[in-house]
Amino acid sequence: MKWRSLAGCLVLLMAGPTLAAEPAATTGTVYYVQPLGDVAPEHARFACRIVTKRFDVRCKILRPRPLPRRAFNARRNQYDADRLVHRLFNDLPRDGLGLMGLTNGDLYDAGRSRFVFGLASLVDHVGVISLARYRGQWWGDTDDRSRFYERFMKVLIHEVGHTLGVGHCPNRHCAMRDDTTLADLDSSPRRFCDRCGGSIERGSKEGPRSVSWHYTRGHGHLQRGQFARALYHLEQAAELDPDDSRVTNDLGVAYLRRGDRARALWYFRNAQRLDPDFAYPRYNEGLVFVAVGDPARARVAFEAAVSIDPGWALAHRQLGFLYSEVLEDPDAALAHFEAYLAAHGDDALVEERVRMIKGGGGN
Ligand SMILES: [Zn+2]
Ligand SMILES: [Zn+2]
Repeated sequence: MKWRSLAGCLVLLMAGPTLAAEPAATTGTVYYVQPLGDVAPEHARFACRIVTKRFDVRCKILRPRPLPRRAFNARRNQYDADRLVHRLFNDLPRDGLGLMGLTNGDLYDAGRSRFVFGLASLVDHVGVISLARYRGQWWGDTDDRSRFYERFMKVLIHEVGHTLGVGHCPNRHCAMRDDTTLADLDSSPRRFCDRCGGSIERGSKEGPRSVSWHYTRGHGHLQRGQFARALYHLEQAAELDPDDSRVTNDLGVAYLRRGDRARALWYFRNAQRLDPDFAYPRYNEGLVFVAVGDPARARVAFEAAVSIDPGWALAHRQLGFLYSEVLEDPDAALAHFEAYLAAHGDDALVEERVRMIKGGGGN
């Protein structure tokens, strides 16, 4: 029952995949269940009933889709849950509070042990659960229908909780506790503790058309290189709250990646004005100046970023290369490269530069 958290703000320039069609919009807030592969219709209906009952939201079952072949790992005879969640991101309709994939395929997560019952994103509003291991038969035991549905329900409410933005709970009497084994799951509580219950209630109210929903959708599209869809959601978020510095910064990133540097710069400066202690827009401003060939201004922007966040490896790396390759200041370059390595940066190129500078091998 693993979850993923929001990765750091998007700061690297890279090419992305082409756009897919946006799912059709409908009205109202709905939680979606997406059968993947050969899932019994009664299991999809059971999932929807539980979601409606436990989370007090409408639920709809989407047309079944085949399991993506690329998510299958033949060596393990399992599906990569992370890949499935990544794929499901684009399938969340515009009125979707969240989306849960259901599969009979067995799931694994590369960062974890042998299997996962499910995986969900804390920010992308999507997750997937596997029905493979709820049957006693899987474990060499007799099948027990009520136990199957009990396990199904527990994993489902836990993963839906993640898709509403709730992480793992240290309270052993809470359904959001982290269960990794079948014995854990069988002893897992069905109820949420007060704290998680409150967060879930807030999460289900912060549905489509809220600032945070549009922001997380926009951020997710941005990370996937889907700029048109990123801009749609970020503009919606900015319209709802023009003073949100995260939204403003991401709008700058989206325009920068579309090649509109002037507009990007305007957003980065606006984000700095909204939150002077926010390091990302300063770093991103530095990227604009690198792109237009203005190293002096790039240096000022990156230095401002590391003065706000002295342990930011990526910003030290940028400064290291700027000082060593453009500004011809090996001492300053060395200081930033060393700060990069001290912050657990692991770029071998940086290590090589440090050796070169220390050995007097030029800049
Ligand atoms: Zn979990
Ligand atoms: Zn809890």
